[in-house]
Amino acid sequence: MKNITVIGAGTMGNGIAHVFAMNGFEVNLVDISEDALENALKTIDKNLWRMVAKEKISTDAKEETIKNISTSTNLKEAVKSADLVIEAATENEEIKLKIFKQMDECSPADCILASNTSSISITKIASVTSRPSKVIGMHFMNPVPVMKLVEVIRGYNTSDDVTNQIMELSKSLGKTPVEVNDYPGFVANRILMPMINEAIYCLYEGVAGVEEIDTVMKLGMAHPMGPLQLADFIGLDICYAIMEVLYDGFNNPKYAPCPLLTQMKTAGKLGKKSGEGFYKYEAEGKSISVSPSFS
Ligand code: NAD
Repeated sequence: MKNITVIGAGTMGNGIAHVFAMNGFEVNLVDISEDALENALKTIDKNLWRMVAKEKISTDAKEETIKNISTSTNLKEAVKSADLVIEAATENEEIKLKIFKQMDECSPADCILASNTSSISITKIASVTSRPSKVIGMHFMNPVPVMKLVEVIRGYNTSDDVTNQIMELSKSLGKTPVEVNDYPGFVANRILMPMINEAIYCLYEGVAGVEEIDTVMKLGMAHPMGPLQLADFIGLDICYAIMEVLYDGFNNPKYAPCPLLTQMKTAGKLGKKSGEGFYKYEAEGKSISVSPSFS
């Protein structure tokens, strides 16, 4: 594989483009928004400078990486000569199904089509293409250049050959791939989100306050971040959407989103991105001031 197209230049798309380009692949980064593409290039540049400062890469390697990335707003053109397309667009089923139909129509017949979705069924995404054996989940973690894991998700029809190619490719990027089957939440979010939801229940039922819950999990379980702070970082709208996928997918009340999560999402308290979730975020230069908004 040489030519990689990444669809969506947001948080995940720019990280995926960064990692592939740094490993010598030609990357075409696509978004519907020129601004998103411009911001992605700025972010990649900033993150590469940080790696140079930490002496993880040389200035030459940084320049080579930038040279390997081109951008486009024309999806159909951008996938024409791709060996692999990784879709990292907005987490919305309708948007993803439309993108996969276009990718299927316009990319070479042997091109592998991957999705970075956190929770949408790979089997369902594959069903709108003419090549379900070549559709797979490649679930990178945020921030992509730092996090080692790639959850490789086999849809019902994904072939062994395609799975092996993606496992090997992930290793060649310096990542550790883990193969999982396509069931709601895969593994990462099936385990993480109920834990976060349970932490929200502890707060909702008055078992403990925000800082107490996060401290128990940080100091007691050696988690680098407490579950409520992590929920703020992921976004409470995203946490809610993933709980709904688990709830609908398994038809089991144990996955019902906590009423407090539902309320906060509805009230627009989405966490870090909205300035307030379980904590308040006030930008003071580059640092973030975190103070509990519940207790
Ligand atoms: P984001 O909102 O930061 O970026 C999404 C980008 O997709 C935007 O720039 C948007 O303009 C673009 N887009 C929307 N429709 C498009 C289209 N039709 N064609 C091309 N581009 C389009 O989102 P994100 O956080 O980067 O998430 C992207 C994907 O990665 C989602 O599926 C999400 O579930 C998954 N994911 C996110 C995280 C995370 O921590 N943010 C972690 C793992 C997986």
